[in-house]
Amino acid sequence: RVKGKWATTRPKHLPTRLALQHFDATYSVQLGQLWPSVRVALLSERKYGALFNNFSNNQDLEKLQAQGCRDFISNRDDPTSSEHISEFGAEEDSSSVSTVSSHVDSQQQSPLWLSPNIKCLVFPRGDITRFKPARPDKFSLLSYYLMDAASVLPCLALGVQKNHTVLDLCAAPGGKALALLQTQSVRFLCVNDSSVSRTSRLKRVLHSYIPKPLLTDDKLRITSFDGTMWGEIERNSFDRVLVDVPCTTDRHSLMEDDNNIFSRSRVGERRSLPQLQVELLLAGIIAACPGGEILYSTCTLSLNQNQGVVEQAIQLAEENHGIQLQVVSLRPLVQKFRNTFHFAPDLHLDESTSHCR
Ligand code: SAM
Repeated sequence: RVKGKWATTRPKHLPTRLALQHFDATYSVQLGQLWPSVRVALLSERKYGALFNNFSNNQDLEKLQAQGCRDFISNRDDPTSSEHISEFGAEEDSSSVSTVSSHVDSQQQSPLWLSPNIKCLVFPRGDITRFKPARPDKFSLLSYYLMDAASVLPCLALGVQKNHTVLDLCAAPGGKALALLQTQSVRFLCVNDSSVSRTSRLKRVLHSYIPKPLLTDDKLRITSFDGTMWGEIERNSFDRVLVDVPCTTDRHSLMEDDNNIFSRSRVGERRSLPQLQVELLLAGIIAACPGGEILYSTCTLSLNQNQGVVEQAIQLAEENHGIQLQVVSLRPLVQKFRNTFHFAPDLHLDESTSHCR
């Protein structure tokens, strides 16, 4: 029964409902026959992964394994795999992750490097058991960080190698930064987020998982700048740049009315997202050193916020800054994890190598 008073104060158009209408209109065209099953997935209970913290002394890895969890990264779908994965044919590509190499002349693609130190545990397919909260060890470091398992993929795709300097341009609350630090390969990490409150949360997360000696000024810098201005701060500096932009956060927008990007008061902000995303990616490209790699990621299926942004930023980098980029195919990664995740159909971004020399 609906109470009269409540009914009159209730917003007529709930943001979650507006989000669903928007997705029905756009994704049914973009995804065609795939949309009904993707829609069900978006409306279903979220499945978490536990990013294992190598710096904690707790023995929780064995405990999680005893509960039936497996590390989807080391238990790769191809048992013959090694950490180096070379290019081979796959029919699919990821919808939300794009890697570009900066200032490169060759169209040769280097093999994808997956760090053996990133471990993410998941319950078996179809099992949505919730993880217990992680426990602190005797140094107060927590044993795992809960995040959407797919959020680990951009960190793997970034291919951080020994002694790399890394910029995480939109880093809060810090799940991907934590995954990057798990590689134990990063010589210097700069984490930035324009939101001061979210940057405070990022600091708390880092201090809850990473030992103090690894958080010193020579190894880590935490800033709270507008990432679009990064080109004015630092150019040609980082081996790897992660640009994990604000987006329509599709699944969240279908679940939570509070602070929803589809609320009427945020229409302008939502419409300007692709422009902000292009500016952030361009800033990340400028911050990368020659030969460096930039990874662009979102948690939306929107073509405008994924492929459209990458194509525009590549064009602007070349025209306005003389930076030549090459799109790196993520097919090897898709092939490796195709039994753990469903990937969106091919975005044809790697074909755009023909126009970015
Ligand atoms: N990478 C994070 C992680 O793994 O936990 C999630 C990042 S979230 C998708 C996007 C972030 O971008 C938000 O924390 C938001 O505050 C930040 N942001 C929004 N506009 C920004 C800007 N102009 N410069 C830098 N960060 C920005």
